Amino acid sequence: MIVVIRPHTPPDQVEAVIREISALGYTPNPIRGEYQTVVAAIGDETTHASLESLNALPQVEQVLRVQKRFKLASRESRRTPTVVHAGGVEIGGDKFVLMAGPCSVESEEQLMATAHAVKAAGAVILRGGAYKPRTSPYEFQGLGPEGLRMLETARAETGLRIITEVLGERDVDLVAGTADILQIGARNAQNFQLLIACARSGKPVLLKRGLSMRVEEWLLAAEYLLAHGNPNVILCERGIRTFETYTRNTLDLAAVAIAKQESHLPVVVDPSQGCGRADLVKVLCRGAAAVGADGLLVEVHPNPAEALSDGQQQLDPAAFEDLVESLRPFVSAAGRTL
Ligand code: PEP
Ligand code: MN
Repeated sequence: MIVVIRPHTPPDQVEAVIREISALGYTPNPIRGEYQTVVAAIGDETTHASLESLNALPQVEQVLRVQKRFKLASRESRRTPTVVHAGGVEIGGDKFVLMAGPCSVESEEQLMATAHAVKAAGAVILRGGAYKPRTSPYEFQGLGPEGLRMLETARAETGLRIITEVLGERDVDLVAGTADILQIGARNAQNFQLLIACARSGKPVLLKRGLSMRVEEWLLAAEYLLAHGNPNVILCERGIRTFETYTRNTLDLAAVAIAKQESHLPVVVDPSQGCGRADLVKVLCRGAAAVGADGLLVEVHPNPAEALSDGQQQLDPAAFEDLVESLRPFVSAAGRTL
């Protein structure tokens, strides 16, 4: 870390800071300028106490980090990209992975119709929430265990792998009993106890970016999963909250490119929550492929107008098929296969 001492600080107070740096386990290397001293503090910032507490000293102007706060999630810790294996499907490899299905599991008929349609169009993973994080307690909350059973039936009938959201710590074992990939939703992305419980389940985890999370916070949430022994982590950009009202959220494709640069973890994009408008989903998928995403998570419903949640952003099966077909040249231009 770099500790910047205020200009014209008397030498005894400079020495006091240097002593404090040593006491905290770092080797201080002072650089004494004409007016100001800067101390390079050598030590592993992830295993030593942070020197940021030195900001409490009046003679300290600022303390700057050199190392990143996330370690296991960083490119430095692993040079080759992580490929997550989920029930025989690889995420983060050469293939651009399509995950698709309804926002919520509503009935067996609805789920089966969607599963067959998305499979025919090229999806390999079926999404569908059995537990739904709804803003209002009066809105459809999901079918719970019954929904999980329907997802199992859909997997048995189609061979699609299953991704579904786990809302709370107490449901982790139950949901992990069905899911090939556990989805941690945007509203839970910094629920650290849930992250730890999902890490321990041993199932691959898809971690949405929280509504107002910085990329660093998102990667630190992923770090929780990795630090608690689960290397099979997929990041998912799903839009952040901004002042814009044309879209439900602002899909941050720059964050996808940054996450790919900073981390070895696979990154997928959810354009459905990302914009909240069915008419924009197709073009955003192209953008996602172009910036280097490893796949997509897209909401598809046999009849979006009758959906019990997120109808405005779900595609019907024909629109999804068209999306996939028109995506092919973009995926191959990005050096991936569909
Ligand atoms: C969803 O995928 O339907 C969902 C609720 O996602 P998010 O957590 O990104 O809002
Ligand atoms: Mn949804």
